[in-house]
Amino acid sequence: AAAETRYKRVLLKMSGEALLGDSQFGHDRKVLSQLAEECAAVHRMGVQLTVVIGGGNIIRGGTLASAGVERTTADYMGMLGTVINALAIQSVIEQQTGIPTRVMSAIPMAAVCEPYIRRRAIRHLEKGRIVIFAAGTGNPFFTTDTGAALRAAEMGCDALLKGTQVDGVYSADPKKDPNAKRYDRLGYLQVLSEDLKVMDASAISLARDSKIPIIVFSVHAPGAFARVLKGEGPHTIIAE
Ligand code: UDP
Repeated sequence: AAAETRYKRVLLKMSGEALLGDSQFGHDRKVLSQLAEECAAVHRMGVQLTVVIGGGNIIRGGTLASAGVERTTADYMGMLGTVINALAIQSVIEQQTGIPTRVMSAIPMAAVCEPYIRRRAIRHLEKGRIVIFAAGTGNPFFTTDTGAALRAAEMGCDALLKGTQVDGVYSADPKKDPNAKRYDRLGYLQVLSEDLKVMDASAISLARDSKIPIIVFSVHAPGAFARVLKGEGPHTIIAE
């Protein structure tokens, strides 16, 4: 299995919004089930897998702040939303695939999940568990994209996979512009200077500092996560 891919340890980042599927709020059964399958396929390849899910399907700090909730409180509420998503994914992965998982939260919540302890997270991976990181960075004014880049750096991941609605980074919005072309490869600095909407700037900078390639691919194509780790299928790689 190891020959199938050159990646040994990766982090998958998905937005909370992706979990909505066709629902207005919360979680879509089909999306959760497909995500579990995608994770299982990569786990079966022998890749050590970590996962970060956003919270946009539940609460976004910025949106709540404009409704009158003080910004840092709104952000903590947003982080709690990512814990809810992490628990949903943990449960579906374990029930559907039987693969053991651990949720580790940047905000300690002893009755619900483990606190994030780096060396313990690595131990879980070595034992073949999928580790789901919750509560982002644990700090307001950050995003789960940045949390994902931070954890990928701390864990020594050799790639950060960003699952999005489209199959890579385009020169323009492919839904609006028929001439939009997908980049196969981009530099970190190009993404930053052209303000290409991939991940926020602090996430890109962190990945750049740690020399972790970001691989952008579509979460809609079944099997795409495993394929991109074999270098197949459409995707964009952001690297030096
Ligand atoms: N958040 C935060 N610090 C973090 C990560 C997340 O304060 O390190 C809050 C922030 O309010 C954000 C919300 O949690 O709006 C949900 O995360 P995010 O918007 O990144 O989710 P996504 O867009 O990936 O669904």
